[in-house]
Amino acid sequence: MLRISIFLLTLFVGFACTKSEEVVNVYSHRHYDIDKELYKQFTEETGIQVNVVSAGADELIQRISSEGERTQADLLITVDAGRLYRAKQADILTTLPDTSIVNLVPDYLRDKDYQWMPLTKRARVFVYHKERVSEDDLSSYEQLMDDTWNDRLLIRSSQNVYNQSLLASFIALEDSAYAAEWTNEVVENLAREPKGGDRDQIKAVAAGVGDLAISNTYYLGLMLNSTNEEERKVAEQMGIFFPSQNSTGTHVNVSGIGLVKYAKNVENAQKLIDFLLRKDVQQKFALGNYEYPVRNDVEWSPLLKEWGTFKEQEVSMNLLGQYNRTAVTIFDQAGWR
Ligand code: FE
Repeated sequence: MLRISIFLLTLFVGFACTKSEEVVNVYSHRHYDIDKELYKQFTEETGIQVNVVSAGADELIQRISSEGERTQADLLITVDAGRLYRAKQADILTTLPDTSIVNLVPDYLRDKDYQWMPLTKRARVFVYHKERVSEDDLSSYEQLMDDTWNDRLLIRSSQNVYNQSLLASFIALEDSAYAAEWTNEVVENLAREPKGGDRDQIKAVAAGVGDLAISNTYYLGLMLNSTNEEERKVAEQMGIFFPSQNSTGTHVNVSGIGLVKYAKNVENAQKLIDFLLRKDVQQKFALGNYEYPVRNDVEWSPLLKEWGTFKEQEVSMNLLGQYNRTAVTIFDQAGWR
């Protein structure tokens, strides 16, 4: 009897040991509370510990490249398809072992080589001052070229990948000549030299520097729900408009997760990706940062429902990366800092 108990005890200890050693290491550019909550839920469900290293995307890509085989990273999370493309180009990602999940999301939102999957979606929209701009006068990205917008537009620097991807989408939908024309005309209409992030453009609209800002949707969501009363007041003066509904659709982009080529915990990495794409998790993930789920069968949060459904650009995320360099050159030539 004693012998059996010892045997059982050994078994139990052995099991507990392997359990506690199960890990997955994530290098992440995302820094939202909701991510931490979901990792915690994943650990509770699977016993797999999630270790996170946070930094900017370019820094993380650089770090994995230089660490090579020695890297701890199993997964890389970045925002914007342009950066995911950079990671692929740097040859630090590899194909997922199980690609049965790829059809959970539309084709154009994912990597054609299955090296990364999208996690959340965001749209790049117009945020305008409700008293100075009438919604009836708004139509498309193209209209921003018009002289009526002289000294009224606010957009961040062209160094930012969100703008580079927006311009890359115009190259994909039309061509680089059109993208250059758009850029030249829009630069003429800027209310000031580009500075600050998307939220700063919205604040500048409230301050009367300009009348319309280009921003990612979730920034307005974050401001509307901010603990800072000033931010909420600013956001409440704004209308949101989804451009180009009667033509090519509103520009969308994703945050995504890629499998690192040197991953040691491949199975656990796949498990975390599967988890993050699960229907109930997608709902929480999107809700937590006012983003859109990447699956079409997941219910939207109340705020997104209030903003309404919209037609989105169905431009492949792969092309946004591919045309990134051309977009950067066009911005430089137009003098868009
Ligand atoms: Fe952002």
